[in-house]
Amino acid sequence: MAFDYDVIILGSGPAGFSCAMQSTKFDKKVLMVEVDNENIGGTWLNKGTVPSKALREAANLILNFHTQFNDEKGRKPYQKFRMEELLHYKMSILDSKNKKVKTDLIKNEVETARGFGKIIDEHTVQVTNQLKQTTTHTAEHILIATGSSPKSPENFEVNNTTIMDYDSILDMTHIPRRMVIVGSGVIAFEFATIFAALGTRITILSGTDDMLPFLDKEIKDELLKILSKKNIQIFRETTVKHVEANELRTCMEVAFHHKSTNRRHVSETDHVLYIGGKLPNSANIGLENMNIDVTDNGMIVVNENFQTGVPNIYAVGDVIGQQSSAAVSFVEGRLAACNMFEMKNDSLGADIPYGIYSIPEISGIGLTEIKARELGIDVTIGRAHFENLTQADIQHDTDGILKLVFRTDNLKLLGVHIIGGQATDLIHLGQCVMATGGTIKYFLDHVLNYPTYSEAYRIAAFNGVNRVYKAGVKYKKILER
Ligand SMILES: Cc1cc2nc3c(=O)[nH]c(=O)nc-3n(C[C@H](O)[C@H](O)[C@H](O)COP(=O)(O)OP(=O)(O)OC[C@H]3O[C@@H](n4cnc5c(N)ncnc54)[C@H](O)[C@@H]3O)c2cc1C
Repeated sequence: MAFDYDVIILGSGPAGFSCAMQSTKFDKKVLMVEVDNENIGGTWLNKGTVPSKALREAANLILNFHTQFNDEKGRKPYQKFRMEELLHYKMSILDSKNKKVKTDLIKNEVETARGFGKIIDEHTVQVTNQLKQTTTHTAEHILIATGSSPKSPENFEVNNTTIMDYDSILDMTHIPRRMVIVGSGVIAFEFATIFAALGTRITILSGTDDMLPFLDKEIKDELLKILSKKNIQIFRETTVKHVEANELRTCMEVAFHHKSTNRRHVSETDHVLYIGGKLPNSANIGLENMNIDVTDNGMIVVNENFQTGVPNIYAVGDVIGQQSSAAVSFVEGRLAACNMFEMKNDSLGADIPYGIYSIPEISGIGLTEIKARELGIDVTIGRAHFENLTQADIQHDTDGILKLVFRTDNLKLLGVHIIGGQATDLIHLGQCVMATGGTIKYFLDHVLNYPTYSEAYRIAAFNGVNRVYKAGVKYKKILER
């Protein structure tokens, strides 16, 4: 049976985009359907990854300028810089990135259709555009890469002016003096530190006691110390009761119950940022008529090849929600294309790093110290404090730790955990050593550029070896391992 396309992709985020690119490399005919009438790139380019990183970079530049060249009048960043300048910085990046992605699609002959895509049967997709006109297209394979949207709060409403979500905060037109952030996930810490860098007084209301539970404990303790230096106040185990304007309408009031004090608190603020997680975009796309399972949270269920219950319909990215990041979505989209066209490829890989783009950054891969000990592995820790790095000194950026977790018996690297400048880039050196089954000797035996943040690996490796030595093993014996 002849189809119009080899694959139709619903969604142009990183998951859809990378599937499209890989499919064209296999000489396949691709149609990409995107409901957004103006932009390509989904949350990645328009509402999340890139815009928040651009805003972060601008805020970090301001923070560095402000701390390194002291303001003689003691002004806060928000008294010297305007949000307009940050938005301009962000927009220039988004414009150039959008152009590049559109050019890539054209160069690789990916066809696009603007409108809401709905699966009609296992080979047919209907696209309804803004004028409610519909077109129908067929393909051998269909990829669902419709991403996710911000969850709404239960007992108040996001109005996108005084109460924002992670989407509307990116278009904030001024730097607020005070902000209460409801939520304590990765994105909450990113925005908390971005606005704190601009001088905003931040309060975080966390619903849980154990925030960012996947972090190594020492890295989390360091994060909390750094946040406290930035005057970011955190209330744990809170339940927000209501959010409303005060009587005079001069500010917002957030009323919440705080478990540990068993008291009701009211926090006055200019803006509230609600970050309560993501909802997969799996509704109304035609799944109800197909043999495609969806979890209670709306995530599409797939097998290890990213196939749904209908074998020629695949799903990747935030809509399957296993590891929702642009980084993972890029790889999943490519792997789905490989599986569709029987060019089977490896899986995502055993160790996937995470990155938190707070100021400073956090990143990690592999076993934490506690997890390794729980597994009964005899591990030793090597630490480097950023205050001992020449490059960190040069950049006046000395908050941070790099921590190596390695087997005591053979020095094999099992985990790397970092908080500090360049952490999200630095992690990849550790990832390479781990992926090749390497030991911490790599950092002792190889010349690393100097001065760099990578020097932290060398310092941490020496620190680790010294601990093994202090535990009674002769130095020569350690280096022979
Ligand atoms: C503030 C923020 C910061 C982030 N920072 C990072 C980061 O630093 N690093 C990182 O790796 N990840 C980051 N992420 C996560 C990352 O953005 C997402 O995980 C990633 O974009 C998901 O990719 P996706 O392709 O699955 O979906 P999306 O990027 O959401 O794209 C889905 C696309 O599908 C379209 N669509 C939806 N329904 C339909 C339909 N029925 N028909 C046609 N089109 C449809 C949408 O309009 C959208 O364009 C961040 C997210 C946020 C919110």
